[in-house]
Amino acid sequence: MAFNFANQLITWHAEHGRTGMPWQNTRDPYAIWVSEIMLQQTQVSAVSERYQRFLKRFPTLKSLAKAPIDDVMALWSGLGYYSRARNLHRCAQIIMVEYGGEFPRTREALESLPGIGRSTAGAIAAFAYEERSPILDANVKRVLSRFHGIEGDLQDQKTIKELWLKAEAQLPSVTAKMPTYTQALMDFGATWCTPRQPKCLEAHAQCPMTRHCTAYKTKRVNEIPAKKKKSASPSFQTSIFLIQCGEFILLERRAPKAIWGGLYSLIELPWEAQSKDITLMTVRNARKILSKTLLGDKALEIDYKQIMSVQTGSVIQHIFSHRRLQMYPYLVSLNKKWHVSDPSLMWVKRKDLAEIGLPQPIRIFLESSSR
Ligand code: SF4
Repeated sequence: MAFNFANQLITWHAEHGRTGMPWQNTRDPYAIWVSEIMLQQTQVSAVSERYQRFLKRFPTLKSLAKAPIDDVMALWSGLGYYSRARNLHRCAQIIMVEYGGEFPRTREALESLPGIGRSTAGAIAAFAYEERSPILDANVKRVLSRFHGIEGDLQDQKTIKELWLKAEAQLPSVTAKMPTYTQALMDFGATWCTPRQPKCLEAHAQCPMTRHCTAYKTKRVNEIPAKKKKSASPSFQTSIFLIQCGEFILLERRAPKAIWGGLYSLIELPWEAQSKDITLMTVRNARKILSKTLLGDKALEIDYKQIMSVQTGSVIQHIFSHRRLQMYPYLVSLNKKWHVSDPSLMWVKRKDLAEIGLPQPIRIFLESSSR
């Protein structure tokens, strides 16, 4: 009998597919959408608990659309790639207004929504509506490039176009198989045809694709897909200000397009390329540095007489996917709260920090600074 990629994968899945993930076995497009967005660039282990918490807090599209964005950001805090949370919220509002609260039912309509790319739209349409729409996430790109021996760079548009054609051509002909096939492809890429230790290279090669996989047959499994050339991550530095008065801390909401956009954080200086020079602030030069940082456009009424002390804290290192950041913290204690009129600034009680969406390194720093 002729080899059929989809059927082979579905048979494999019955025995080896992942089980016990909280987003499996649902046809609810809302729940599928939330899981697909959370799983982008994030490990399954990091998502499981967050996903359940998110659905508990926002069980329906309507509840998400109605929620204040700050609540959504707070729940997303620590997951990274915050534009995903902003897009989820915006998308829920668009579906409520433009689609009467009903999730769009085709890949094309789904793809027109913010934050939903072609592969995510394909996954939602396949899982929720059994649409014959392919997916092409990073794992699937690897599986298909190996299986078909496609050697091009996976970032290259020409290679991506070729992979989409293969993904489309391999779909099951029976639509009812789409949810299982799509899950099987995801599971196979995540657990068997992995970047470094695919099952076919183990002592007892057990991949069901070996007889038809081009990379395996031509002994190029380690060469396909082409390895990305690593470029050095740029390093930045900044100063951050923990301005506190008794139990209150001054926080600033970050601009939507900034890194950690929409989250609250400490007031900071603009990031600069890392150098050895950083002017450390002391009580003596506090006035100059705080003026430079806080006066400008922040509409803070600063009374320097209210500064009781300025201390430096240990440098915080944070590594993003494509850059590094060193933050030099200053702990500025006031005897009276400065008046704030800028809506992006707010005084928050330490005990309420758990309810606020903060970047993870800032949350850790604030927790350690309270001990
Ligand atoms: S034979 Fe190896 S490279 Fe080919 S699909 Fe199986 S695990 Fe992946």
